[in-house]
Amino acid sequence: MARRILFLGPPGAGKGTQAAMIAKALHIPHVSTGEMLRDAVSRGTDLGREVEGVMTAGDLVSDDLVVAIVDERLSQDDAKCGYLLDGFPRNVAQAEALNDAVINAIGTVVLLEADSDELVNRLLKRAAQEGRADDNEETIRRRLEVYNAETVPLVEFYGDAVHRIDGIGEIDDVFSRIMLALVAS
Ligand code: ADP
Repeated sequence: MARRILFLGPPGAGKGTQAAMIAKALHIPHVSTGEMLRDAVSRGTDLGREVEGVMTAGDLVSDDLVVAIVDERLSQDDAKCGYLLDGFPRNVAQAEALNDAVINAIGTVVLLEADSDELVNRLLKRAAQEGRADDNEETIRRRLEVYNAETVPLVEFYGDAVHRIDGIGEIDDVFSRIMLALVAS
């Protein structure tokens, strides 16, 4: 089974939840750029201060910064036997940087899908529950726009490696769909 997995999907598709479950089941590290960046913001590091405004607006942090963070993370020992990337690459430039890196190219790409009404509803619900700084209606719309403009082209970039998964339904059912696709890949 593939051990270098990439998760793609719009904000609200459930990527973070599913990525954590799949990584745990496969005993590979879950590398989430969104989580790493939010952690830097909450700790108030130099990096955190630099990216906070961009994240709150729903825009992408610069490629150089994100590529450096991911390179560093994937060079750690626990990533030698595989990893699950969640939220990276987010555009073609980042995907090309990943291909250039010491790390091998991606094995399997999981594209988690949901229609945009469902996405907005889920994100607004999460906003009410968790209060994430970038979960307000204006920023949500911006993140969806950025996803469509920057990230959707990766579906073509990765071509046959992409497995489309329906992200609507119970968490465990979506998990099973992803596992089945990974076993078959
Ligand atoms: P979501 O998919 O729910 O929008 P993430 O947790 O993946 O959220 O990312 C949150 C924010 O972190 C993004 O809106 C962006 O500002 C920043 N970010 C995360 N990953 C990247 C990346 N690979 N490149 C640029 N910015 C990123």
